[in-house]
Amino acid sequence: MHPAPFDYQRPVTLDEAFSLLGAEGARPLAGGHSLLPAMKLRVSNPATLVDISRIPGLDAIEQNGGGLTIGALATHEVVAASTVVATHCRILAETAAHIGDAQVRARGTMGGSIAHADPAADYPTTLLALGATVNTASVAGTRQVAIGDFFVDIFTTALELGELITSVTIPSLPAGTGGVYLKHRHPASSYAVVGIAAIVMMEGGSITGARLAVGGVAGKPVAVDVSALTGQAPSPEVFASAAGAVAGALGNPIGDLYASGEYRVHLAGVLARRALAAAAERTAG
Ligand SMILES: Cc1cc2nc3c(=O)[nH]c(=O)nc-3n(C[C@H](O)[C@H](O)[C@H](O)COP(=O)(O)OP(=O)(O)OC[C@H]3O[C@@H](n4cnc5c(N)ncnc54)[C@H](O)[C@@H]3O)c2cc1C
Repeated sequence: MHPAPFDYQRPVTLDEAFSLLGAEGARPLAGGHSLLPAMKLRVSNPATLVDISRIPGLDAIEQNGGGLTIGALATHEVVAASTVVATHCRILAETAAHIGDAQVRARGTMGGSIAHADPAADYPTTLLALGATVNTASVAGTRQVAIGDFFVDIFTTALELGELITSVTIPSLPAGTGGVYLKHRHPASSYAVVGIAAIVMMEGGSITGARLAVGGVAGKPVAVDVSALTGQAPSPEVFASAAGAVAGALGNPIGDLYASGEYRVHLAGVLARRALAAAAERTAG
């Protein structure tokens, strides 16, 4: 199917983009790997596409005192290959490497992925576990939105009309932290049927903190309380017990022809146990 007719604009500054996005029916375009398929299906019918992909500086990746900042236009391929990301946040580089296929990773962007808020996307789950902040800008100014407040529901975020994601900031993780993203990928699309991000912090042989997020099962990624791990020594039993909290956190699971809701919840528990154990193993560096 062809998209409905639309106008196309390609601003080269943020101010120009904001001005164009002020028009009725205008929509930002980044890598186009979610928006264009939706337009072809006529699920999305923007009057004007505002192609932000040529705005300089929006693809920068930087590590500084505030943590790791990934520009909205950084492609999945660039994040996956970045030595800065691999050094400071290995789980994020690995998450990027698991997205789609080479073509999708070459065009798809961090900003586009989280703005689209597909429940089966990979970044949202990992960013929730990492406690990221989404940095936005619009004619009204800039905002910093905690990732837990950013995802509202399926394909719905806290972004306001005319507002752009400019970057995402991930707070620095203390030494002795390990992180792992595991997913059961859909065989056709590679999207996450279930995706699990686990972060474990250790000191002196004891767990000092842990975070777990589940994607693909609800309308938005879900944080699971695994604080019971704090103070424990890592073992298969303590991780199995912590993973037991997953089912209770996942009310109304998504089900489809490929995987029922019940199956997804079961899978999430299994992957959570494995991800927590693997994250703990990585705490040694
Ligand atoms: C075959 C295929 C397989 C895929 N597999 C996976 C997968 O395994 N895992 C996964 O996570 N994803 C997968 N994707 C999705 C892919 O990661 C997309 O690239 C991504 O979801 C959207 O990024 P984009 O840059 O292409 O955004 P676009 O398609 O350009 O835009 C998507 C939405 O975000 C908005 N937008 C874009 N940038 C911004 C911004 N900076 N600020 C505000 N709004 C913005 C647009 O207006 C639009 O609503 C797949 C896609 C395809 C086609």
